[in-house]
Amino acid sequence: MIPSAIVTIKELILWEYARLMSEEASGERDNWRFTLHNFEQLNSDKKRWSHILEEEVKVDPNKCAYCGSEKDLSITRIVPKEVCYFAKIHNTVRTCKKCNSSKGGKDLIEWWIFNGQDKIPRSVLAKYLKILYICHECNGTTDGCALDEYGKYNLVYLGYVFQEPCNSDKVRA
Ligand SMILES: [Zn+2]
Ligand SMILES: [Zn+2]
Repeated sequence: MIPSAIVTIKELILWEYARLMSEEASGERDNWRFTLHNFEQLNSDKKRWSHILEEEVKVDPNKCAYCGSEKDLSITRIVPKEVCYFAKIHNTVRTCKKCNSSKGGKDLIEWWIFNGQDKIPRSVLAKYLKILYICHECNGTTDGCALDEYGKYNLVYLGYVFQEPCNSDKVRA
């Protein structure tokens, strides 16, 4: 459940990230008390997102980021298309051949839901949330409404930001 105080895209992304922090601290992604505490700290800038290198250190380089397989690994994109210059560094994971061919060009969250799985691995979701955040920042939409057309919180919906080239790339071009 998401508190109704969450309205903006920034707040929804921070809430999802706070759940990952809660999982790290308590072993539970759905620990409401931990999540709320982490969210408040992130949202008031008392706590910062861990740096990308810290995220990378926690990842086992010999395993598929999605399923943990050690066979036929290659570097693939989380967001299937090229993302902007600022988000690019977060957009790669090591993937086994099986996961790579099943995910292919699909959006991370849609693919995961389609597979009937309820928990995207922490390391992958952390990176995806960062890419989402960075590109909403590039496009000036972090303060936009986080609700989709049905009035629901929906991370898949926030991925609309990847459909067009990022504003930062338009400026750089
Ligand atoms: Zn795999
Ligand atoms: Zn961007």
